[in-house]
Parts: sequence; structure tokens; C-alpha cells
Amino acid sequence: MSKPKKKPSIVERYPEDTREAAALLKQAVPLMMRHSIAPNPLHYALWYTYCQGREPELNRRLDKIVTDFDSFPAEAAVKLFRDYVIRHELEEARAGQQQVIELVDGIEDDVSLSVTGSHNYQTSLAQGLAALREPIIDDLPNVLNDLQQSTQQMQDQQEKFLYRIRAAQNEIQHLRGQLERAHVAATLDSLTQVFNRHAFTRLLEQALTGDHQGVALVMLDIDHFKQFNDQYGHPLGDRVLQHVGQLLRDALPPRATAARYGGEEFCVILRECLDTQSAHAFAENLRMRIQSLRIKVRRTDQVLDSISASFGFALAKPGDNPESLLTRADDALYQAKHSGRNQVHPEPCESALSA
Ligand code: GH3
Ligand code: MG
Ligand code: MG
Repeated sequence: MSKPKKKPSIVERYPEDTREAAALLKQAVPLMMRHSIAPNPLHYALWYTYCQGREPELNRRLDKIVTDFDSFPAEAAVKLFRDYVIRHELEEARAGQQQVIELVDGIEDDVSLSVTGSHNYQTSLAQGLAALREPIIDDLPNVLNDLQQSTQQMQDQQEKFLYRIRAAQNEIQHLRGQLERAHVAATLDSLTQVFNRHAFTRLLEQALTGDHQGVALVMLDIDHFKQFNDQYGHPLGDRVLQHVGQLLRDALPPRATAARYGGEEFCVILRECLDTQSAHAFAENLRMRIQSLRIKVRRTDQVLDSISASFGFALAKPGDNPESLLTRADDALYQAKHSGRNQVHPEPCESALSA
């Protein structure tokens, strides 16, 4: 029997690295301009997907809309976005919602059954009591018998109700587990098990709100990785990325966060890092650990020992936002590459910039 086709996660649907993604955007933006399409995230997503060419039906529809209309109708854009860009996420959300609705419906039925049962029981108790208060009661055994029967019925019903409540609790537990797994899948990079870029962006924003003294951003990029892939193949390249993810997780100081920023680039948000030396020491330690990586080519038993990465880092300053901090760390990384790779470079200092 063939397995049901796994729906691609949002990360799997956008496998491009930074450079490939930039190339797709470079195709998408002129297309949007040519058709006078307003630059907004929804339109970018549609035209990015168009240039990816993964949804031929979307491309056909977009082509038709731009031929048939002078302007790009907003409702059509929203519909296409739902149908082709976030379709799987919507389907999953709807299925989860439906499960919860059914569960709550079931509990409501059980509760109302139990309430009716209690009500009937109360009535029969009241009737029994009224009969017992009669001065002369001929059929005392019958009254007691009725009372005993309705007590038994009530007990049975309560047990059934308890059983159903327990089943509902299990179901809730199961749904909570599913939700937690979905949350992890949405925030973690599945290959390297560090945060994905989406989660990283949110975490960096959070780190930089309020008093962000002590926040440092370290960026690293594996050296000559394209060449590595070309020489040893993509699967081995993936193993390198997994090892780097593991090294990052192992090396993190308390309250630090590691993320895969794109293809072979990673970022670490350090908190409580008050001076350049601490950030430098952290990055240097990581650089050495990466340099010490030994990867075995399973087919030939050859051991590869030439993996390295370049690092740039910057300390947050008052008034910094994610973009400004990322730019400075990226500039530092560029310097590290430019100066020969496999080294750590701090952000360009202000005196040097103004000189
Ligand atoms: P540099 O030292 O200047 O960083 O050179 P580079 O070759 O590492 O940089 P470049 O940006 O030219 O190439 C990055 C490569 O990373 C290209 C791409 O195939 C590879 N890459 C990106 N994502 C993945 C991935 O998920 N798995 C594997 N195996 N390779 C990836
Ligand atoms: Mg790169
Ligand atoms: Mg690289």
C-alpha cells in the first residue's frame, strides 16, 4: 500500500539559501513592477512562489489575471495566497479546530446527559421522601425498592460519565502533545535542530526590546561550502550542517539562542554579554570546535578535517534594532571572509569607520 503523501512543511517549501532566494526576488520584483503590482508581503509571497515555479496552477492563474485585468484585484490575491501559499497550514489548522470542536461537543452531550440524570434522580428522591412521610404507607418495600433502583441508575450514569471525562482528558492530552510538536516543528530547523530563521527574527526582536544591554549577535558562515558540496555531495554537506548545529547547541552559554539563519549561515544571540572579549571568546571557541570537526566519508572511509567557518559579531548599542545589529555582525563576517576565512572578526569599530 502506498503511503499518504507527506505535506511539505513551510521550511521544506522554501529550501533556497540566501543567494538563491535573493535571485528569485530579483526576478519577482521586476515582474511585479511590470504589472504595477503594489509591493506588499502578500504580493511578494505570490510572485516569489511564481518564480519558484513549484505551483504551475498558481502561475497559470497569475498569468491570466495580469492579462485580464489592468490592476491586480486584492480579493484575487488573498484567495491565491490561501489556495497556493498557505494551503497546507490552513488545512492543518482546520483539522485541529474540527477535532477540538468534536471533543467539546462530546463533553457537552455527556454533561447534559448527567444533568438530566441528576434531575430525574432528584425527582424520584423527592417522590420517595414524600411517600415515606405519609402517615400510613402500605407499600414501603416498593418505595424503598424504587429508591434503590434509581440510586443504582444514578451511580451507573455517574460511572459512565466519569469514564467519558477520562477519555476526554486523554484526548486533550493527545491534542496538547500534537500542538506542542507542531509548535516545535514551526520554530526549529529540522536539519540542524536549532531555531529556524522565522523564530530567530522574533527572538532577536524580543532581545532588543527595552534595555538590551548585554545582547551580542554572533554570525558564522561555513567556508567554501559550495566547493565542499561539489566535491563530496549534498548529503555529506547536510551532515556537516547537522554537526555544526550540534556544536552550537553544546557550546551555548545560559540564555543564549542559536539559529540557522539561512543555508550555511548560523546566528547566536548572546545575552548577559557585556564586553567584546566575552563575545570574541565564545566565537573563537566555536571556531576551534568547528575546525576540529572530523567527518568520515562512509563510502571511502576517508576522514575530512578541513571544515572551517568564519565569524563576525557585534554588541547591541542603545537604539539598535534587529536590522542594524544584523548589518554590523554581517559586515564583521564579511571582514573575516575577506581577511582569509576561518577567523573571528569583531564589528568595525566606530573610529575605524569614521577614519
Ligand atoms: P564562502 O566561504 O565565501 O562562504 O563560500 P561558500 O561556498 O560557503 O558560499 P556560497 O554562498 O557561495 O555557497 C553556499 C553554499 O551552501 C551553496 C549551497 O549549495 C550550500 N547550501 C546551502 N544550504 C544547504 C543545505 O541545506 N545543505 C547543503 N548540503 N548545502 C547547502
Ligand atoms: Mg553563505
Ligand atoms: Mg559559506
